[in-house]
Amino acid sequence: MRTEFPLRHFISCHTCQRPLTGSWSRGRTARYAYYHCYNKVCEQYGKAIPKKTIEGDFSCELQGLQMDDQTLNATCVMAQDIWKHKVQQEERSAHQKAQQESRRLQTVEEDLNGLADKLGRTRSEIVINRLEKRIEELENQRLVLEEAKTKAPAPHVEFGTAFQSVQKLLQNPYITWKEGDLPLRRLVQRLVFATPPSYDRNSGFGTIELSLPYLISRRVMADELRLVDIPLESWNSYLEAVFKWAELVEATDGQEPQGSPISLTQSGGL
Ligand SMILES: [Zn+2]
Repeated sequence: MRTEFPLRHFISCHTCQRPLTGSWSRGRTARYAYYHCYNKVCEQYGKAIPKKTIEGDFSCELQGLQMDDQTLNATCVMAQDIWKHKVQQEERSAHQKAQQESRRLQTVEEDLNGLADKLGRTRSEIVINRLEKRIEELENQRLVLEEAKTKAPAPHVEFGTAFQSVQKLLQNPYITWKEGDLPLRRLVQRLVFATPPSYDRNSGFGTIELSLPYLISRRVMADELRLVDIPLESWNSYLEAVFKWAELVEATDGQEPQGSPISLTQSGGL
């Protein structure tokens, strides 16, 4: 993996939308690094975009996403509230389900006892066969219900813990990108943008589509959006993003993330 071209295969060519690659040019006195389109039928094919220029522009985009403490804290508090409410609801419905299953188990056990009684009193082969078959079915149901009863519900990951591991990235993606190793840099790229941005040699970046967490913070900081007006659906996507990102950030420790953007683009009517 070439560490000197972190944007390689991430940024696309504005003309043909294919990914850019990076190369070294051999000048008379010095080598210099550049990015370029390598799609042979594209008019931008091979035309150099200096590494310094595109990475500088990219840094500017990231710097523009820096979140102030107040917005970060308010967003965290609000998201935490929504998460708590969600957990409570899930716990309530898990409790209801457990109660239903416990009632069902009781019924099955009563039926089994009744059938065992009947079995003891009959001599007809046909009836015996039928009762035994039914007993077997109920016995299977009973085992399933018994097992469900002993299974503890999956523990909830604390929102606060997940938020903490992505807080720095949320608040200042530029710092994480600048200081990170290549895998982390590439992860940041894929988390910040909903779609890989395109770049033109003359005009720079095209339209930037941010992933939901940055979209929210940017609009909140620009006074275009109040946190209380964000629909629940978007908050759910936000929570999902925080948990997923925390997992990815932990897993990225030296590993190259695979695939396309993983930013959970669902904006839920923002
Ligand atoms: Zn191109």
